[in-house]
Amino acid sequence: MFENKKILVLGFARSGYEASKLLAKKGNKVILNDLKEDHEQNKIEELKSLGVEIILGSHPDNLLDASFDYLIKNPGVPIDHKYILKAKELGIEVINEVEMAYRLMPKDVTLVAITGTNGKTTTTTLIYEMIKKEGKRVHLTGNIGYPLCSFLNVIEPNDIIVMETSCQQLENLKEFKPNIAVMTNLSEAHIDFLKSYDNYKRVKAKIFQNQTSNDIAILNIENDDVMEVTKNIKSKVKYFSSQNIINGCYIKDDAIYYYDEKIINLKDIKLVGMHNYENIMASILAVKELGITNESIIDVLKSFNGVPHRLEFVKEFNKRLFYNDSKATNIKSTQIALSSFTKPTILLLGGMERGQDFNLLKDYVNYVKLIVCFGENKKRVKEFGDSLMIETIVKDNLHDAVITAYEKSSQGDIILLSPASASWDQYKCFEDRGIEYKECINKLGGNENENN
Ligand code: ADP
Repeated sequence: MFENKKILVLGFARSGYEASKLLAKKGNKVILNDLKEDHEQNKIEELKSLGVEIILGSHPDNLLDASFDYLIKNPGVPIDHKYILKAKELGIEVINEVEMAYRLMPKDVTLVAITGTNGKTTTTTLIYEMIKKEGKRVHLTGNIGYPLCSFLNVIEPNDIIVMETSCQQLENLKEFKPNIAVMTNLSEAHIDFLKSYDNYKRVKAKIFQNQTSNDIAILNIENDDVMEVTKNIKSKVKYFSSQNIINGCYIKDDAIYYYDEKIINLKDIKLVGMHNYENIMASILAVKELGITNESIIDVLKSFNGVPHRLEFVKEFNKRLFYNDSKATNIKSTQIALSSFTKPTILLLGGMERGQDFNLLKDYVNYVKLIVCFGENKKRVKEFGDSLMIETIVKDNLHDAVITAYEKSSQGDIILLSPASASWDQYKCFEDRGIEYKECINKLGGNENENN
């Protein structure tokens, strides 16, 4: 398999580079094509030295012909790209790096794959951390971590692979079969790539398509769309619920239960918010299948501050609790963040102007005692705060906003960056905004031993 073949790799990016490298080393004739001209020179040189032919800057009309055996598509390439359509016409198999790596992977490893509209990264990270805590050999891959094919050569028998799987990756999967597949939830978001919500749901459900009764599916029983798309799967199903006591993982008396067994009190968990309790329950169901002990699960839940920039606990300083939710680039995410707290909250709000409707936060600001706004849309944030009679202070930038938030805060307050806005008015990306926020907090005078 994948030897002495002619293969077009479409899209450089991380997975295209790794796939080309692997395929060239296995003696295939590899042509790597990308519209973008600018890529890391050392990677280009490395691939060339392995015999990869690299064509950058355009998609020549005559590049793809019947002499190719495979087209390896980068997950970001649109499904109606001219080469994809032509490959289908010519009968050339179109797969992606994940499917290719899966076919090459030894079958004595355990594969845990996580998908869903929200909570993928958090759930994937939790599962990975719990397995690692247990001292087992585990690899993190997919949308986070390294592409699957980059560590095929280090995988040992009985290793565990934990993989965040986006719909772009699921689109071209055929034989891919996780031993454990998790679907956190489904909702109508990010469907541009797949054109319609129905198609999006169909693609997401592909994660279960090859599973048999020996494989596990972990599902959010409260999500109607998840239940609908999984009606006919053959997997052994395990459920979690944040709303009802069920035969599976659930919340009772402010604690998380796994069947009849109490795992942990909610107050002992570092992550906050019902959405995160759902991610935690999905993770517990997954790792229990792998024999992970409660001790490891509890250790992680007591210490895990969250994935950076996703309602991440930054630190406690002078009895104020700072949270970084810079990834909240839309109203919905800020609603979720605000729903996660029941203590007086100072909200840092604002960023790029996209005409978002701040009034949609109205029902979520019960605990907000002060808004500090910054960024391009700060005037509209100020109007919103004023309309609700919540004190709202306008600042030019995040740095000044943090200082004001701290000066106006009292012991026990939550200080939350959850901007409901993209960062591009002042930053390259939301990560940079979150990093600056954390730097500002550290400059307030706290020293590291006040970190929790
Ligand atoms: P993803 O990888 O699917 O984008 P993340 O774990 O990175 O998800 O979380 C991103 C944001 O999605 C969070 O900050 C939160 O606003 C929201 N979120 C996370 N988990 C859930 C969930 N289980 N249900 C609903 N929303 C969630």
